[in-house]
Parts: sequence; C-alpha cells; structure tokens
Amino acid sequence: LTTIEKLLVLQDRDRKIRQLSQECEDIPARKKLIETRLHSHQEELKQTQDELKHNASAIKQIEIDVDTNKLRILKLRDQQGMIKSNEEYRALEREISSVQKQIIDAEDREITLMEAGEKVRARLAEQEKSLAEEQKIVARDSAALDERKGNLVADLEKIKADRAGMVGDIPEDWLQRYERVFQHTGDYALVAIENKFCGGCHMALPPQVTQDVKKGLSLISCGYCGRILYWQP
Ligand SMILES: [Zn+2]
Repeated sequence: LTTIEKLLVLQDRDRKIRQLSQECEDIPARKKLIETRLHSHQEELKQTQDELKHNASAIKQIEIDVDTNKLRILKLRDQQGMIKSNEEYRALEREISSVQKQIIDAEDREITLMEAGEKVRARLAEQEKSLAEEQKIVARDSAALDERKGNLVADLEKIKADRAGMVGDIPEDWLQRYERVFQHTGDYALVAIENKFCGGCHMALPPQVTQDVKKGLSLISCGYCGRILYWQP
C-alpha cells in the first residue's frame, strides 16, 4: 500500500470512531428524553390524585356540616319543648325547616361530588394502567440503549486497537498533517480529485496541483479548503 492508501484506510477507521463516539455521547440525552415521557405521565397521575383528595375532603366537609346541622335541629327541638308562646314555637319551626333544607341541599351536593369522584377514580385507574405500560416501554427502551452503549464501547475499542496497529507504518509528518486536517474539517482529511475539482469543496484546481497529486510524492492540500488531495485513476 502507498502511504496515501494507508491514510485512506486510517481515515475510514477515524470516521467510524468519530461516528460511534458521537452516538455513544448522545445516549445519556436519549435516555433522559425517554424518561421525560414518563415524567409527564407521573405528573398527570399526581394531578388526578390531588383532584381525588380534594373531592374526598369536600365530601368530608359536607358530612361534618350535615352532622352539625342535625345536632342543631335536636337542640331546636329541645328549645321548642320548653316554649309556651305559639309565635315563638312557629319561629323555631321555621328555623328547623330552614336547617332541614340546608341538610337536603348539602346531601344533594354530596351525591354530585360522589358521582364526580367516581369519574375521577376511573380516570385514575386508566392513568395508572397507562403509566405502568409506559414504565415497561421506558425500561425496555432504556435497557436497549444501555446494550447499544455496551456494543459501541466494545466496537470502539476494537477499531481503536486496529487503528493503533496501522499508524506505525505511516511517516510521522504525514500522519500529523493528516490528523490536523481531519480534526479541522470535521468530515474528511483526504479527498479525491474529481475531474479537476477538489472532492471536498468542489473548487477548480490549478493543473499543476493535479499533476503534483498524480505523482503522489508529497501531501498536497487544496488551496481553498485545506483538505489533502489524492488521485484516483
Ligand atoms: Zn477543497
């Protein structure tokens, strides 16, 4: 293999390393995104639980009010028993009726609240079911990502070892220049000349450059983008 050919193989490994490393780095963010999906389900569930709590405490409050009013009626009846005047008796009777009316209204409200509570409870059950399903999916997806990460790490180790075995064969100055350009461009360090144009930036190259690249005696860069040129017959 010529040095350029060796560098092309190296570039292939380096691109693979770059791609796999990027995927590896993205995994924590992807896991976080999956867990976010779970958070929205949990949040929804918590809201429904709160709604149910409010419903229960409103019912409790009505029951307390009804009990208080029932006691009040008992007291008013006692008072009635001790009263002599008809007028006062009727006034107490009116008060008792009014309290009884309050009790009936409160009990109506309680029934409405209990019916609403049933609906909230049904919704809660649905949400618990869907959260449990989502938890399963998240656990499965998360485990798949962990497995993927394990495979990526193993693949990276293999490719890096492979790469380390190659670089000894390449002249140090060519290697350093290749690595600098590879880091700088973010895609390719080596590009073929394609019909008198640079394969990286697609600018027209001077004929002399193409001639020198064909000879392959030194590393020649594109004057526009800095990528190293090679000739592909
Ligand atoms: Zn170029």
